[in-house]
Amino acid sequence: VTSLLPWPSAYLAITRRARLLRLLERFHALERAGAMPGTTMLVGEVGLGREALAVELAAALICPSPRAVPCDCPGCGRVRRGIHPDLSVVDVDVDEKTGKRKEEISIRQAREISDGLASFPFEGRRRVYVFVSAHTPPLNTHAASALLKTLEEPPAHACFVLLAGNPARVLPTVLSRSVQVRVPTPDRGELAELLAAAHGLTAAEAEEHLHACVDDPVAALRLDRAGSAPLLSGLAALAREAFAGDALAVLRLAVRAKASPDAITAFSRVLLDEAARTGGDGAERALQAAANVLEADRRRAVLHLDAESVTAGALMPLLSAGPA
Ligand SMILES: [Zn+2]
Repeated sequence: VTSLLPWPSAYLAITRRARLLRLLERFHALERAGAMPGTTMLVGEVGLGREALAVELAAALICPSPRAVPCDCPGCGRVRRGIHPDLSVVDVDVDEKTGKRKEEISIRQAREISDGLASFPFEGRRRVYVFVSAHTPPLNTHAASALLKTLEEPPAHACFVLLAGNPARVLPTVLSRSVQVRVPTPDRGELAELLAAAHGLTAAEAEEHLHACVDDPVAALRLDRAGSAPLLSGLAALAREAFAGDALAVLRLAVRAKASPDAITAFSRVLLDEAARTGGDGAERALQAAANVLEADRRRAVLHLDAESVTAGALMPLLSAGPA
């Protein structure tokens, strides 16, 4: 079943996540004590629990009389399906002409949120606004400025929940108005379950998929099962050829990076493993190449560059040093 929220239902699976439930219980205790922060930032990687926690937290804050943690009343069910009138999930709009997602949250969206806060909740105790990403972009200066007063002190009948992978990519003005809470990452068993749910795999296949992605949960969750294994398998052999000064291998590595930018962290880890294996002078060059690939990927993300040319450039030191 696909969730009506902007996230696939696998992201919202929470049942067996003991640490997430404990965190949720702590929020409940805060709420009962009247100490729930107006603006909370849940810090964690996409798909590894922060979305599930945001939705359960929203349910707990909206529900007129929670029966348990998590509550199973019809109202909480509607929050989970993304159809409760008191839950707003804030994401970039889709451009009507091109059909593509816009790059930033608009000032109009920000104004609608602050204007809407004047009215009381429709059914629940509160209105909850979940920001899919508080990073810059999509939450840029102008929209953020229109929201600052609201984030600073929302009315008692409203709460903001902001999601972020890296607080360093959030505007300082937004950061200073939020209480940051780190979302616990799933352990390996939970991760395999999450992957099995997300990609429709058996437990053994999920383990294999995770292994193929060099244990990088973010890459594992984003790559589909057909794409990832061929993409990442043989990477080590290719890296060895590249370290030996094979220009073609460098280009093929770059092409793979282009095919799946999400795998770049896993990718650089393969290079690091190779470095450790090679030792000596080759290792130093491999380490340099891995550092370059990561730095290049960061630059690529910021500047929206093409992954192939950026990665090829980053791997060039392997060639200039000549055969190992
Ligand atoms: Zn409920």
